[in-house]
Amino acid sequence: MTETLTTLKRPELLAPAGTLEKLKIAVHYGADAVYIGGEAYGLRSRAGNFDFDEMREGVEFAHSYGAKVYVATNMVTHPGDEQGSGEFFRTIRDIGVDAIIISDPALIHICATEAPGLEMHLSTQQSAVNYETLNFWQDYGLTRCVLGREVSMEEIAEICAKTDVEIEAFIHGAMCISYSGRCTLSNHMENRDANRGGCCQSCRWRYGLFEMPQLDTRIMKGRGEEGTNIKEPFSMSAVDLGMIEHIPDIIENGIDSLKIEGRMKSIHYVSTVVNVYRRAIDSYLEDPASYELKQEWVDEIWKAAQRELATGFFYDTPSEDEQLFGKRRRIQQYQFVGQVLDYDETTQIATIQQRNLFEVGDTIEFYGPGMRHHEQTLEAMVNEDDEAIERAPHAMMIVKMKVNQPVKPHDMIRKAR
Ligand code: SF4
Repeated sequence: MTETLTTLKRPELLAPAGTLEKLKIAVHYGADAVYIGGEAYGLRSRAGNFDFDEMREGVEFAHSYGAKVYVATNMVTHPGDEQGSGEFFRTIRDIGVDAIIISDPALIHICATEAPGLEMHLSTQQSAVNYETLNFWQDYGLTRCVLGREVSMEEIAEICAKTDVEIEAFIHGAMCISYSGRCTLSNHMENRDANRGGCCQSCRWRYGLFEMPQLDTRIMKGRGEEGTNIKEPFSMSAVDLGMIEHIPDIIENGIDSLKIEGRMKSIHYVSTVVNVYRRAIDSYLEDPASYELKQEWVDEIWKAAQRELATGFFYDTPSEDEQLFGKRRRIQQYQFVGQVLDYDETTQIATIQQRNLFEVGDTIEFYGPGMRHHEQTLEAMVNEDDEAIERAPHAMMIVKMKVNQPVKPHDMIRKAR
């Protein structure tokens, strides 16, 4: 046990942050680092990308908690797209961003020559799945690599052993049904370039299957037109990745950074997933010999999960059971309803910002960093004018209620559906 303790490396827990609010929540709930998008060169044009002022505030906030901020600049550049990128890289370097996540060799060259000192991490868009590839990119100044999701745990162990490039791997979140970063489905369906920030997730649409007598069986988009011979809508997506049951394996194999997918996900999702992985990682590092997976962690993850979870390519090639060809087999049981803004210890009154409808009589669950939880029945509440109300129907409205146990700002509230 002593030997294990001295050789285990503490991995970074890396969380998505689509907005400044999500960045702060991720850090409050225990992320060691967050990744965000700027207003250019990223792959999530519809995520709430950061302007320079927001980036500055986010970096200052994260650094004050000892956390890092990475900026995704991993688009594929067509002629002209790279214009202004040198200035962009210099600005975010001077803001104090800790690294950029980058994939296009043109942008890598520009960053290395025009913004020296800005650390570069190779994006998963480059589909790097072997150590020679990592060593190649190291020669161009990249210090870390986000591996392709198609790599196995055995391969990761070999890669970690044979390179000193830092290894970042996705451990939780949505999978691409296509080879990561090599998909043009969205370009074809909606003329939106998945490799330049426009993926419309066409793989997750619901399609009809048609039998075409002259053309064999083809897949066509349809909404119940004549000729549909399979009633279930068909989609091409995979279940999500979830590695909560394999934290010891991940840490022992030497992965440096454990990445959670989902810059467009809610603060409910980010807080819940970060909270659970934080607890599992710390628990294992504190005492590897007596570590055990707790069912409450798995249950907690499921409260925010959007699809079933599987281990992706870590242990085997995903089987048919890990695809979502038909309808979802499990539906999310909880709904995010509010966030605690303030708490008065003397009166035990919490001030809440509404995020979804809740009403008197509901059983609501409070949770906060460190996996604090309590459940209570909502017996009464008042609005901002101290008038008693039965329902909180308006998004972002402020209400006050008495709580049975102390809560803190940034605690979240959910209720069973
Ligand atoms: S359409 Fe689906 S498979 Fe293609 S890039 Fe988007 S999410 Fe990935």
